[in-house]
Amino acid sequence: MKKSTAIQVVLLASTAGVAARLGHQLITHNVSVMATISAVLAVLSTGLFIASRLAYVGRTVVYDCPAKGCAVSIRVTDVPETERARYRSYAVDHRKHSGSA
Ligand SMILES: [Zn+2]
Repeated sequence: MKKSTAIQVVLLASTAGVAARLGHQLITHNVSVMATISAVLAVLSTGLFIASRLAYVGRTVVYDCPAKGCAVSIRVTDVPETERARYRSYAVDHRKHSGSA
């Protein structure tokens, strides 16, 4: 598992703050405990999801086949450069993955 980035930490801290504030407002406006907990958990899970997706920003590269109508697309994350070059070569050369010679 990769170490958290600063932006992830800030995002999670902000999410926790928003969730706590929301929970406080809901509970002081006579909203039921279950509804308040549900809303707080929804905010927290959204923040966690976004933070987890941020982990892939800048580390993921997508190689698409340039051939018209070909749907081959390879998403590469955290692989050595030699492996990345192999995936790139396979994705951008339509002859290698189309079965035609
Ligand atoms: Zn192709």
